[in-house]
Amino acid sequence: MGDDDNLKWGRSTVDTVCPLDCPDACSLAVTVEKGKVLRIDGSHAHDATNGYICAKVRRFSERVYGEARIPYPLVRDGGRDGEFRKASWDDALDLIASRMEAIRDEWGAEAILPFSYGGSNGLLTQDTTDARLFRQFGTSRLARTVCAMPTSTANQALYGKMPGVTYSDYRYARLIIVWGANPSSSGVHLIPHIKAAQAAGAALVVIDPRRTNLARQADIHLAVKPGTDVVVALAIHRFLFKQGLADQEFLDEHANGAAQLRERASEWTIDHAASVAGLDPELLENVAEMYADISPAVIRCGWGLERNRNGGNAALAVLALPTVAGKFGVRGGGYSMSNSGAWRHSPEDWIGVPEPDTRLVNMNHLGRALLDYRDPPVQMLFVYNCNPAVTMPNQNKVLEGLARQDLFTVVFDQVMTDTAALADVVLPATTFLESYDIVTSYGLSTMQLAKPAIDAVGEARPNVEVFAELANRLGLAASGEHGTDVETLLAVTGTMPDEVGRDLMGAGIVTDPAGGAPIQFVDVSPRTPDGKVQLFPEALDHQTPSGLYRYQEHPATDEYPLSLISPATEKTINSSLGELRRGPASLHMHPDDAEPRGLSTGDTVRMFNPLGEVHSPLRLNPDMRRGTVGLPKGLWRMSTLNGSTANALVSDDLTDIGGGAVFNDVRVEVARVVTVSLDAEDVSKWSAGSGDGVH
Ligand code: SF4
Repeated sequence: MGDDDNLKWGRSTVDTVCPLDCPDACSLAVTVEKGKVLRIDGSHAHDATNGYICAKVRRFSERVYGEARIPYPLVRDGGRDGEFRKASWDDALDLIASRMEAIRDEWGAEAILPFSYGGSNGLLTQDTTDARLFRQFGTSRLARTVCAMPTSTANQALYGKMPGVTYSDYRYARLIIVWGANPSSSGVHLIPHIKAAQAAGAALVVIDPRRTNLARQADIHLAVKPGTDVVVALAIHRFLFKQGLADQEFLDEHANGAAQLRERASEWTIDHAASVAGLDPELLENVAEMYADISPAVIRCGWGLERNRNGGNAALAVLALPTVAGKFGVRGGGYSMSNSGAWRHSPEDWIGVPEPDTRLVNMNHLGRALLDYRDPPVQMLFVYNCNPAVTMPNQNKVLEGLARQDLFTVVFDQVMTDTAALADVVLPATTFLESYDIVTSYGLSTMQLAKPAIDAVGEARPNVEVFAELANRLGLAASGEHGTDVETLLAVTGTMPDEVGRDLMGAGIVTDPAGGAPIQFVDVSPRTPDGKVQLFPEALDHQTPSGLYRYQEHPATDEYPLSLISPATEKTINSSLGELRRGPASLHMHPDDAEPRGLSTGDTVRMFNPLGEVHSPLRLNPDMRRGTVGLPKGLWRMSTLNGSTANALVSDDLTDIGGGAVFNDVRVEVARVVTVSLDAEDVSKWSAGSGDGVH
């Protein structure tokens, strides 16, 4: 298409970035025709994107213009069972402000709970005017721990979040271990670099309960039992120490705590760990030998391994391996975790109001907060960038809390989510195609400017504007308040080093000053107080119920013998885009688990435990680990047959470190509801090869 054609059709292309909760933060080229999004492609502004993006974001315009989009503010009349009516922004914001004041006067401001997570990873969409408003008002605070907190705490304690090996350096590795990650679903731009490394002779090990696409292509796949990654890593540590293969020179110079780690690992012989983790001991020993022998070796540590009672210790044990084996100091050697610490800025640089010492609520305890908390009870829930009715643990308790007649719930979102459907006031938010933002990648180390490609759809408004408006109504806005996304953009970039702000506003993309492809222990070092790796962070040992590097067994009973996991899929980003799913999601089960239960593909089954039950079609899948069943992460209530998601079966217990959720630490049983109510062909059509996360 030439320039003349573009002119004729009123077409233009806007360079922007994807801010969704995915490690890659792709650079995008959005084609707009007559003010509407025509196409979303990857651009070449970001080397890692290289013109390619996932199918999820290619179809993002279906969200922008879809039926579920919230066109204008809605207010529910007549209590919890009443109907929504259209409201003006002024009326809706006045109502919220007056309820906030009334609740503060009667119960205290801590009776208001703001609730948000990673619906957008943009720096403006969260922790700007929203944080200022809620801090000034003195509401309860939220511990945003639903994801990545155990791994983040481990990475911080060991290395002070030293920047990791970047995707493009994987091609230099001779051994790649992908542990608890499925880049085909999340962080897809790592895949070509792994393939390049393999083509150049690198060995690939995948550690995951499922035989994912990548696991099929691996030299060794360890189909580890969910929750036992920690013992697998400890067995490799023990092997290294015992065989004299630990890098003592490196440990002496760069680490503290090696002796304590060695002692805690000492009980985990290869045989013992293999029996607990359900692995072939020979394969596990092969991996330990490969890791000792081959360099450069890199470990891609994902988030799948953290979502269980041993998750923090698993992350610690896995991330400690390159130190014990001395894998740093070469390109393609070391580890990758989140690079969120690569940029040294913090929202504290621009919020401008200190965090008050008000009640801190762990978001994984939302059900408890809504039903059990007193002094004061939660009277208002203000939800944005988040869909807790389906994404939080103990879903039935959360739903019961949201159904409280005396709870006032505000949901500020782009589409009518399951949570919005239960709210008293619903406010329409812009998507990332309709407002400015700044997006940092946590898989790589770039910062990019998100620019609006189209005008706001309907009456949608950006987050910064709405929270600033509310602050005005509550008499909290200071003079010079940043009330629009552009003003806030300038205020945030104004806190950054001059060259970063200049490049961001100019080229639209900045690479981390460490160069974007640092060699660990050459270009970057641990950011711990003494610059050394803290292999046994004492402070965490005291905070961890079981102690560091300890394994806690799941108290499984004979009644609930199956483990349930809910992996990310190729259809949603967390629960974002869940409204676009068609048909019910299938529960995946190994044929050997189905046979004694008399189940087959197409059966409608109920999966249950004492917390609840989920009804869905069954799909037999030999890629599942025996004893483990899988239902996709991010489902909305319409995607199962009884309106419950996998989270109805997840307890709100917390991980050993970091207060995270235990989504992959669930025991269930599965039984048939009716004999073959769905056509097996239909079930295959909905799930086979369609990104339901078990391939
Ligand atoms: S979701 Fe991930 S892979 Fe897809 S466009 Fe966004 S950053 Fe890229």
